Amino acid sequence: MRLSQGQLNLLEVCPRKFQHTYLEQLGSPTDLEQQERLLAGSRFHLLMQQWEMGLPIDPLLREDEQLRRWFGAFIEAEPKILGTIASQTGDSAYRQSEHLRTLAVEGHLLTVIYDLLILSPTQAQILDWKTYPKPGRSDRLSQNWQSRLYPFVLAETSQYTPDQISMIYWFFQAKGEATEPQSLTLKYDRTKHEQTWQTLTQLLKQLTEWLHRYEMGEPFPQVSQAVGECDRCSFAVRCQRQDVVIPSVSAIAEIPL
Ligand code: SF4
Repeated sequence: MRLSQGQLNLLEVCPRKFQHTYLEQLGSPTDLEQQERLLAGSRFHLLMQQWEMGLPIDPLLREDEQLRRWFGAFIEAEPKILGTIASQTGDSAYRQSEHLRTLAVEGHLLTVIYDLLILSPTQAQILDWKTYPKPGRSDRLSQNWQSRLYPFVLAETSQYTPDQISMIYWFFQAKGEATEPQSLTLKYDRTKHEQTWQTLTQLLKQLTEWLHRYEMGEPFPQVSQAVGECDRCSFAVRCQRQDVVIPSVSAIAEIPL
């Protein structure tokens, strides 16, 4: 299978959810607010890509005030965001946006897309744009598959050693009055690389086994109910982890014609 970080996250949270979402294509309904947030994030990523490629961005900015605010914050912080490697090493740096890499592991094809990759002869930085506030704690983000898979694939597909790679998240949705983008840097190293390799190969071996059994008619395993994941899952009724509530006829309000 071709797998992204999002699919690995889902597979780790609940294999049955992975089955419903990716094998059976049963999308979870998203509310309007969530859809708007996703759309705004996509527009910002497109804007940043066009800007990096030297393409016109005025048509994108003209009609979108939020986009103008985020981009204004980026321009103010640009020397800090883009100049890190050059200022640290004195080297000249190469940059590419929406940089795609793939890596075959255990018969599956891992795919990553870096929002921006900055390379110097001795260091590699993977930059990722987020259009939500910086989380108070970094442990959940550092355990997310994006933070593990992105540097892993770069270390496996380039001449950079794990210690030369870092992942930097930039958050453009500031909390309170501050508009300056906030960053979170996650340094990579050999220990993390080895841990990721072990976890990944184990997870992918399991996936191969689950796919094989699924073809024979056996569904993917469900996460334990005690974890609490089912309480916020849209497949709870399908998975018989929540009762279907059918209102009595008398409780349904009459609709005037
Ligand atoms: S309801 Fe629970 S078991 Fe079913 S897909 Fe969701 S998280 Fe997994």
